[in-house]
Amino acid sequence: MTDIKNSAFQSDGADILSMTADELADFASKELGEKPYRGRQLYGWLQKGASYEEMTNLPTSFKEKLLQKCEYRLPKIVEKYVSRLDGTVKYLMQMLDGECVESVLMKYEHGNTVCVSCQAGCRMGCRFCASTLNGKSRDLRASEILGQIINIARDSKERVDGVVMMGIGEPLDNYENTVKFLKLVSSPDGLGIGLRHISVSTCGIVPKIKQLAGEGMPVTLSVSLHASDDSVRSSLIPMNRKYNIDELLDACKYYFDVTGRRVSFEYTLISGENDSLDDADRLAFVLKRKMDGPCHVNLIMLNEVKETKYQSSGRERAELFCKRLTSRGVTATIRRRLGADISASCGQLRLRYQ
Ligand code: SF4
Repeated sequence: MTDIKNSAFQSDGADILSMTADELADFASKELGEKPYRGRQLYGWLQKGASYEEMTNLPTSFKEKLLQKCEYRLPKIVEKYVSRLDGTVKYLMQMLDGECVESVLMKYEHGNTVCVSCQAGCRMGCRFCASTLNGKSRDLRASEILGQIINIARDSKERVDGVVMMGIGEPLDNYENTVKFLKLVSSPDGLGIGLRHISVSTCGIVPKIKQLAGEGMPVTLSVSLHASDDSVRSSLIPMNRKYNIDELLDACKYYFDVTGRRVSFEYTLISGENDSLDDADRLAFVLKRKMDGPCHVNLIMLNEVKETKYQSSGRERAELFCKRLTSRGVTATIRRRLGADISASCGQLRLRYQ
């Protein structure tokens, strides 16, 4: 019999971790000549990240077929950093073809949240971001996004309560795999993470925001806004040249109207670029005009990347900016910085390793 210990690193065949329970039942009966319930049993094991050896209620003959015909793509943890300040854990994970991405486990009072990557690199070109410096190598499969969470749950022995798709990559630029991942991770037969506890970030791909609104999946849309006027936003986020702030906010309002979910706006404060009180006034004005209430602004302290010229605004400026927004009737908070002692900015671990 083939060695089943290292089966997680098979490289060819059907990508079974990207299949739903129904798809696996179908696959087991049509492709492997097994009873459909065997596929459902397999689904339960895969969601726990079990090796074939650990799948004790599956017959050896079934596991041999899986080894021959399937690819079980659980990523490998190659680096791990634990914050001594708050227990945040940052992982570098390697896919079967050697591509690496970053994932983070964050511990909050209300539960554990995992930040996942969805692409190896990114082609969006946001000027302050390390993840885009070498462009995009490839999209991750749904199984490779899910595999990051399964790995973290196994490694930390902690329950994962929420997910943010805010690691390397633009989720809406890998749309099919993102939607498939959302289905898998929220399935009650699997990890069962509620869609309302999942955030999908985007730099503003307007048609995909509208498409996501129609998927019937009430995830939180988290929009990287980072500026209140088009000239500044276009200088920071090239996507703004394709879809400007007006079009983006119209799509956000549409998302809210269809899903009923409040939209969250990410605003990274960059010294001298977007952090004046005039910027705060303009931001409050455009959000109130377009969104009319149902939104929240997350102010983020910039994690400086040495390859870029941008510098963080500092705490004092962030507090002034936040107060100004609040006084103009826009709800805003400064995001608490977790894992400050291990917080190389997103994408830097991957850059160094590659
Ligand atoms: S901020 Fe997000 S979308 Fe923009 S380059 Fe970085 S990873 Fe890509």
